[in-house]
Amino acid sequence: MEDLVIGVDLGATNIKVGLVTADGRILSRRRLGTEVREGPGAVAGRICRACRELVSMTESAPGRVLGAGVGCPGSVDSASGVLRFWPNVPDWRNVPLRRMIEDELGMRCVMDNDANVAALAEQWVGTGKGASSLVVLTLGTGIGAGIVLNGRVWRGGNGAAGEVGHMSINPRGPLCSCGNRGCLQVYAGATAMVRRMREAIEAGARTSLADRKDELTAELIHKAALAGDEASRRNIEQTGRYLGVGVSNLMHILNPQVIAFSGGLTAAGEMLMAPLRDEVKCRTLEACRRDTRVSFAALLDDAGVIGAARCFMIG
Ligand SMILES: [Zn+2]
Repeated sequence: MEDLVIGVDLGATNIKVGLVTADGRILSRRRLGTEVREGPGAVAGRICRACRELVSMTESAPGRVLGAGVGCPGSVDSASGVLRFWPNVPDWRNVPLRRMIEDELGMRCVMDNDANVAALAEQWVGTGKGASSLVVLTLGTGIGAGIVLNGRVWRGGNGAAGEVGHMSINPRGPLCSCGNRGCLQVYAGATAMVRRMREAIEAGARTSLADRKDELTAELIHKAALAGDEASRRNIEQTGRYLGVGVSNLMHILNPQVIAFSGGLTAAGEMLMAPLRDEVKCRTLEACRRDTRVSFAALLDDAGVIGAARCFMIG
């Protein structure tokens, strides 16, 4: 009989739940709205209901399901299973979510941060399969990362590791939301792309987006670049170069086997990746770069569910 583990991917909008096999396949899945406003008790209840439905939907007896792994956004204390702080939902503080789920579901549960969980998934069955060390950077409004070293998540001294978006790349650069100046994410996040595009328009750049200054998004810039807009293409190229600076730093410190990217900005594909690789090549010691593969993450929407289950499996 095959052992199965439930993977839960808790997001601000949706909860995704999947029954994951010992070799990393999702056998069946459920997706439902999170409804965070109803509060932690109600959300934990919805997670458990989805888990029970999943178990009953499969032909397998519930006894085959060993437990559940949960990936959460924000700051998670994985040892105690407490969701300390969720930036998108500031009134959730120190929620003992793991215990709430364990009590209601009646099975053992583990919990970790969503970036850590995604990195575990990529290292297990995604782009980092076969590698024992990798970093997965999630490119969105900000930039976060999950770090896996020797097959285990590296959480740091108190669980705060992986804040790669706040590594300084210019001591006198623009102000970041963290209060510091010149962090990677003020150059290479989606907000940074929009800011640079707006500045270019204000400086008189010729671009098809000139009259859409107030509705700019990274997606819009990408679409314009695909349609041949030179200023948009340059914007994405610059973003790739800044990311290359960050990646070079990671290579020098960690020398991981794989560095992968996930998140909205990866839609730009090679337009982003080619300048990134160029920059890395210029900046990085050959020994630190030689055996590191830089790629896009492979599991997309499934990384959260698969990684949460993996988190449980490796305990
Ligand atoms: Zn910062």
